[in-house]
Amino acid sequence: MAYDFDLFVIGAGSGGVRAARFAAGFGAKVAVAESRYLGGTCVNVGCVPKKLLVYGAHVADELEQAAGFGWTLEEGHFDWGTLIANKNREIERLNGIYRNLLVNSGVTLLTGHARITAANEVEVEGQRYSAANILIATGGWPQVPDIPGKELAITSNEAFYLKDLPRRVLVVGGGYIAVEFAGIFQGLGAATTLLYRGDLFLRGFDGSVRTHLKEELEKRGMDLQFNADIQRIDKLDDGSLKATLKDGRELVADCVFYATGRRPMLDNLGLENTGVELDERGFIRVDEQYQTTAPSILAIGDVIGRVQLTPVALAEGMAVARRLFKPEQYRPVDYQNIPTAVFSQPPIGTVGLTEEQALQAGHKVQIFESRFRAMKLTLTDIQEKTLMKLVVDAETDKVLGCHMVGPDAGEIIQGLGIALKAGATKLQFDETIGVHPTAAEEFVTMRTVTR
Ligand code: FAD
Ligand code: NDP
Repeated sequence: MAYDFDLFVIGAGSGGVRAARFAAGFGAKVAVAESRYLGGTCVNVGCVPKKLLVYGAHVADELEQAAGFGWTLEEGHFDWGTLIANKNREIERLNGIYRNLLVNSGVTLLTGHARITAANEVEVEGQRYSAANILIATGGWPQVPDIPGKELAITSNEAFYLKDLPRRVLVVGGGYIAVEFAGIFQGLGAATTLLYRGDLFLRGFDGSVRTHLKEELEKRGMDLQFNADIQRIDKLDDGSLKATLKDGRELVADCVFYATGRRPMLDNLGLENTGVELDERGFIRVDEQYQTTAPSILAIGDVIGRVQLTPVALAEGMAVARRLFKPEQYRPVDYQNIPTAVFSQPPIGTVGLTEEQALQAGHKVQIFESRFRAMKLTLTDIQEKTLMKLVVDAETDKVLGCHMVGPDAGEIIQGLGIALKAGATKLQFDETIGVHPTAAEEFVTMRTVTR
């Protein structure tokens, strides 16, 4: 049977655009439907605008350090409206680039909500299209616990478009988004409290990293409250918000920001018309090749809930395009040793196993750990410390994990990701000549086993 398209992609986000462009490049007839914004979460309400706001907050650090280098500055004034307007202009530019990327690679771009109506059929704006393969790349959506007053809270989606910088913010959650936005709000001048339900935030990250970041955020004056959970939110007469915690305490703020995870975006997608099954967490179930339980339907990215990162969605999109249309070039995505950064202030960079994971996996580990004050700070009064840590297999000498908290951690960890992928040993780290004077050279000069 002749179909309208070889591949119909639902969602023009990180994964969908990559799959569509490469499939078209391999000669396939491809359509993409997008209901909201080209480039998806990452470009519009994720990585990109977040990093721009992080840069904005970081300027406060530079201003604080300036005096040590002889600069006398007039008192600075920050204008949230200018930052947001400039950020919005950049996002619009990127939306245009994504449009050109798709159109120039021969992809048919459809604007509107897509709904699957049959195993090989999708409806957009009342028009039905047939396709040999359908790729679900619809991403995720913030999830807020069902508590009284939840409608008074905002999520990352709204934070990017706030009219004013709130004076007092309560950030709820202990994952990437909570820690990053707490740093943005605090850095830009809001009195910021971070509330996390467990003992220590960033569950799953290396223990030394979690503790180190906690200490550094406290030095910066952030109010960290662990084992704290909001029971209800009420609006007060003066417009501010009162959060009542489960332990009875009451906190008042101008903004309550929830970053308590993201659900898969399956709204009105028509999955009931297909044999697509969900896993126990509610994400789309796929096999190693992103095949759902319906033979003509695939899924990638945040909607499968594997690793919710843009470069992972890109790799999955590429894998699907190759598997379908260039099988001789197909390579499975390697989920081992994915480097990642949390753009907190200071930031975290990490790749490979944490000390806890290595021990749990049965490795006999050697830990190399270094804490030092960055050279740049020696001319200032700032007492911030950088943490670097290597987790090494004592028997094979292989470096199992690299972890860092400190300036440029994200930039530094990318190269170490290559080293770990190549299976580097500690000896090879030691034999690598450092770049001097940098913080990064510490990763090749840690000689003494800490434990
Ligand atoms: P998305 O990018 O979410 O794209 C899905 C697209 O599908 C959307 O455009 C949506 O409008 C569209 N869509 C949904 N349903 C339909 C439908 N029925 N019809 C038509 N279109 C539809 N990752 C990093 O690697 N680094 C970071 O620094 C980072 N920062 C982040 C910060 C925040 C605040 C958030 C929320 C996420 C961040 N992420 C980051 C994660 C990253 O954004 C996601 O992992 C990535 O965008 C997932 O890509 P995707 O293709 O699966 O989905
Ligand atoms: P995460 O899953 O990272 O963190 C969710 C946090 O919310 C956890 O601390 C969790 O606690 C807590 N939580 C969950 N449910 C509740 C609840 N009912 N009440 C109170 N707390 C709750 O999600 P995020 O929303 O921070 O981010 C989503 C994903 O987006 C990230 O996992 C990451 O993959 C991606 N991302 C990547 C970034 C980057 O690369 N720099 C930046 C931002 C996002 P607990 O640990 O106890 O379960």
